[in-house]
Amino acid sequence: MKPDVLIVGAGIIGAACADALSARGLRVTVVERDAVGSGATAAGMGHLVAMDDNAAELALSAHSLELWQELVDGQPQRHEYSRCGTLWVAADDEELEAARAKALTMSERGLACDVVDAPDLYRLEPQLRPGLAGGLLVPGDGLVYPPKSARILLARAVARGAVLLAGEVAALEEGGVLLADGTRLAAGQVVLAAGTRCLALAPGLPLRPKKGHVMITDRYPGFIRHQLVELGYVKSAHASDGESVAFNLQPRPTGQVLIGSSRQFDTTDLAAEPEMMARMLRRAVQYTPALAGLNVLRCWTGLRAATPDGLPLIGPAPSRRNLWLATGHEGLGITTSLATAQLLAAQMAGGQAGIDARPYLPSRFVDAGRAYG
Ligand SMILES: Cc1cc2nc3c(=O)[nH]c(=O)nc-3n(C[C@H](O)[C@H](O)[C@H](O)COP(=O)(O)OP(=O)(O)OC[C@H]3O[C@@H](n4cnc5c(N)ncnc54)[C@H](O)[C@@H]3O)c2cc1C
Repeated sequence: MKPDVLIVGAGIIGAACADALSARGLRVTVVERDAVGSGATAAGMGHLVAMDDNAAELALSAHSLELWQELVDGQPQRHEYSRCGTLWVAADDEELEAARAKALTMSERGLACDVVDAPDLYRLEPQLRPGLAGGLLVPGDGLVYPPKSARILLARAVARGAVLLAGEVAALEEGGVLLADGTRLAAGQVVLAAGTRCLALAPGLPLRPKKGHVMITDRYPGFIRHQLVELGYVKSAHASDGESVAFNLQPRPTGQVLIGSSRQFDTTDLAAEPEMMARMLRRAVQYTPALAGLNVLRCWTGLRAATPDGLPLIGPAPSRRNLWLATGHEGLGITTSLATAQLLAAQMAGGQAGIDARPYLPSRFVDAGRAYG
């Protein structure tokens, strides 16, 4: 029977959408060209983090964190979840001032957070180098293992009758999609959740790939306890051109340490680049000198789908009937996947999403005479 909704892509976004739409009683089919959760989702650090660069980003990430808490409750180990909290590190007084401003914004949204002075910073994280000014602790942030969470979300949908099909969507058509093997699949609605590959199916979308590297060390339990991020990260994350690195360390539940993060535009080559790895390691060692003595086991890369304003595209595609977009989550898609799915499902199937959908509507990029999607 023809599904109500066909979702292209089973990354964390497609999987979360399948879960939310099937929970609302819709018949869902998901088409995935590779393994579930194998795209950017497999490359992501899995940091669940409240980000506050603007009100819409904070609303989406904070709401999603509430949904993650409900999802992992009672079965945290299935997601390899840890409520490690984020410690934003202030290198100097100027960054400590930025930490205070961040604390104000987050408290207004009801998020628990504490500005910490230098002695408390070293009590929380003894490996940090001397001379730092303090930081901001956000205890409600956490981490998951993203491909596992994607598989769990999809399995919930399949248990409600959703279908997972192996295949590559070659084109979007009126009333469905065309697969690379020539099969035509009809569907009431199509959701494009194919990450950066959305561009191949809808070339006009306002998306650019942003490459990132991540490294993982051997096991050093207790080396760090929180996700450590330099406050300068925000500058790096929002650069709209060129290459940047920022200090970003994560304590995996296995005792391993994930080392991020880098950002590069204008390349889709997934090869790990020694020069970029060296820059990331130099930055990380500046903040945690003892890291220089740890063994790095592996490095990988992934492509984030970045929009011009840093907010995702969630909602109807402006120029094509029955096509919906759920993409453009850049470096925050693991965090924001669950709220994205609720927003999309509320728009498609009715009901409440918990936050205002308007800031993320794809139609915000449509100017006179130029539509896309
Ligand atoms: C290095 C790095 C670190 C990151 N760290 C974090 C983090 O700590 N926290 C956080 O919140 N976010 C993080 N992110 C961002 C996050 O990983 C992404 O925003 C998120 O995974 C996007 O999910 P997606 O489902 O949209 O895309 P993807 O995971 O790329 O999934 C798209 C899926 O669609 C499939 N597909 C594509 N084209 C087709 C087709 N034609 N037919 C069928 N299937 C198709 C692909 O095979 C893939 O499985 C990070 C990203 C990177 C690269």
